[in-house]
Amino acid sequence: MKLQAIDVRAKADFDGHEKVVRVVDQDSGLRAIIALHNTNLGPGLGGCRMYPYASEEAAIIDALRLSRGMSYKAAMAGLPLGGGKSVIMGDPKRDKTPDLFTAMANAVNELGGLYIIAQDSGTSMEDMDLMAEHTEHIAGGKQLRHTDSKNESLDPSPATALGVFKGLEAAVKFRFGGRTLSGLRVAIQGLGNVGFGLARHLHKAGAVIFVQDINATQVRRAVQELRATELVGDQIYRHKVDVFAPCALGGVINDASIVQLNCQLIAGAANNQLLTADHGRQLAASDILYVPDYVLNAGGIICIHHARVGSSIAESNQHVANIGDTVMELLQRSKYSAVRPERIADRMAEERFKRESPDVDEVA
Ligand code: NAD
Repeated sequence: MKLQAIDVRAKADFDGHEKVVRVVDQDSGLRAIIALHNTNLGPGLGGCRMYPYASEEAAIIDALRLSRGMSYKAAMAGLPLGGGKSVIMGDPKRDKTPDLFTAMANAVNELGGLYIIAQDSGTSMEDMDLMAEHTEHIAGGKQLRHTDSKNESLDPSPATALGVFKGLEAAVKFRFGGRTLSGLRVAIQGLGNVGFGLARHLHKAGAVIFVQDINATQVRRAVQELRATELVGDQIYRHKVDVFAPCALGGVINDASIVQLNCQLIAGAANNQLLTADHGRQLAASDILYVPDYVLNAGGIICIHHARVGSSIAESNQHVANIGDTVMELLQRSKYSAVRPERIADRMAEERFKRESPDVDEVA
């Protein structure tokens, strides 16, 4: 197994990445890229994606973008972690073998703890279990759970839903002058692991819920259990509500949806909600307040970190709940500086991870 440094400085997605390596293992057929964006705050924790990339170039670009995103997410979540990500070039349905993941774990070991590997699209809990036999630099598999958890394994989705709820609650307070969630009208797109959890929290807090999902069973459950009202297709954008919570797909704030939106606040779990930066500009021009997705949906990585370092569920949830304070701080800074929230979030993250690591004396 060989690790070769790749010079990515000329690539458009290069953003001062600290280290990018190509992993090649002839025996197992492993071809992977590991990218570390910034490790000033701690080792780069990030998922291992497995995907049949059309070229190595495509894999490198994905690794560069994803690892950068993790630096921002971890910093805003107040975690002692940096940004890292890995991608395995291969078809998850056909190309998985025990040797492949053993080689990947050995590659992670070669980085000496700078990268902590985790599950992502295309890799499974079983893949993590296998790698956990060969590396300690891993946050995944059945062994990963809070010290007092009775569950068989860790599901980060409830923590993600809690974080989105706390962030949404703070944003509502900010946007609607101290208002609580009672009677608040919220439209939720996507009732999966996170969206349904968010809907439950909102229902408990007295919000009036509107839902849309392509999965009719989930919609029926929400209507029956949470007295939600079903919206169909684009109604989810057009219906007059206070808050729109995208919890299904990325890119939903786009040319087609933005002209239909009938809300004052957007706060949801989906990754990369703004199709382009210009859509953020358009939201601000329409006086719709957008809460940056990566700040809101960090509950999952927070709970993974806490499970890894041996915290209790209560300690983990307390940290997740801090997302509310972070959202409040960033919205206030945005208001006073007249800079859009998503740009302030990036600035706040950079203030945290771009600073030099403190000297030992300073810490003491
Ligand atoms: P999920 O797959 O459990 O749920 C997604 C839901 O969206 C499903 O019910 C699906 O039927 C629905 N959906 C798909 N296409 C749709 C469409 N066109 N219109 C309406 N509904 C549609 O996913 P999840 O784990 O709940 O995650 C939701 C979002 O949050 C994703 O974008 C994910 O990347 C992001 N996220 C999740 C976590 C986590 O901990 N699970 C963490 C961070 C970010």
